[in-house]
Amino acid sequence: MLFKSVIGQDELKQQLRQAVQEGRIAHAQLFWGNSGYGALPLALSLAQYINCTNRTAADACGYCPSCHKIQKLIHPDLHFAVPVNNTKEIPAEKKPVTDHFLARWREALLANPYLNEQEWYETIGIENKQGNIGVNEAARIMEKLHFKSFEAEYKVMIIWLPERMNMQASNRLLKLIEEPPTKTLFFLVSEDTTRIIKTIQSRAQPVHVPPIDEEALIKIKMERDGLPEPQARKQARAAAGSYSKLLSVAANDADTTERFASFTSLMRLAYVVDGLALMAWAEELAKTGREHQKSFLTYAEQLLRESFMNNRHAPEVTYLLGDEAAFVQKFSPYVNERNVEAIYNAFNLAMTHLSQNGNAKIIFTDMAMQLAQWVRA
Ligand SMILES: [Zn+2]
Repeated sequence: MLFKSVIGQDELKQQLRQAVQEGRIAHAQLFWGNSGYGALPLALSLAQYINCTNRTAADACGYCPSCHKIQKLIHPDLHFAVPVNNTKEIPAEKKPVTDHFLARWREALLANPYLNEQEWYETIGIENKQGNIGVNEAARIMEKLHFKSFEAEYKVMIIWLPERMNMQASNRLLKLIEEPPTKTLFFLVSEDTTRIIKTIQSRAQPVHVPPIDEEALIKIKMERDGLPEPQARKQARAAAGSYSKLLSVAANDADTTERFASFTSLMRLAYVVDGLALMAWAEELAKTGREHQKSFLTYAEQLLRESFMNNRHAPEVTYLLGDEAAFVQKFSPYVNERNVEAIYNAFNLAMTHLSQNGNAKIIFTDMAMQLAQWVRA
């Protein structure tokens, strides 16, 4: 990974590059920062930068043989140890270690270098169990570092989430981390240093990875995803410096836009009592998944509540922004003491019937017809 592909973190990148240029590369470094801040991408970029045969002051070249292999995560001198556990394919008898999951790891990391712990566990299917870095893994690490490097100047061992390393494993690795063979580097990448075994922690030079600055996140949303500035700003703020969080905020935002469009069209059709169009609307929602249908109903209840509050009190009580706020302003006169409960009950009844696995098309058609009766009341 190139430094320029790491989001934000300009100051830290500069420090890392400078240390390489001045030949002060600490043999064990502990990159630490919350999930999504970019500790792992930074460790990868540093590994690439160190071994690039054609680097500049700013970055690795991206095309020399070393860069090429590191970018694909297939360099023979770039090693990984990550938390794993038994799965259906790799049962406990096989003593699961990273090598069993290497293909998955490469694929997941290439798809998203900001991958977090939970996403990794879902990828390999250990589900509710936690991964760990145990004594078998420690033995593999020692084996791998025993040989001198094949191609690169430096061998790099990236231990992702050293907080998942148990006491036995860390005891075996302690000496190696303290005094690695020549031209061997340990990059530990942690999301929670409070749980790393202290003896390990004290042997690595800390590299603190701060939250990504908001402007860098805004830039990503605007330039890469083509979002208008206000929306990019809103999402970046909610992400609080974490790129992983930015991804989930964005997914949520897209869902909200779709739910909002569906809700406004339902209310408009109910108001004009267009029976055929209401049935078509119900059919459309019935085609989506059950979780989507439930989240639509929850959203509808929320907008109804906001509209009612807006009617009864002042507009300033609403928590909504943009299009949603504008809609609630216009819609609130139609939500009053006479009908609010009936409308709410229509949503609620649909929710109950969905939970009982009723036929979605019938449920939503009934609900839409109820609304047509009450919205004008
Ligand atoms: Zn290169």
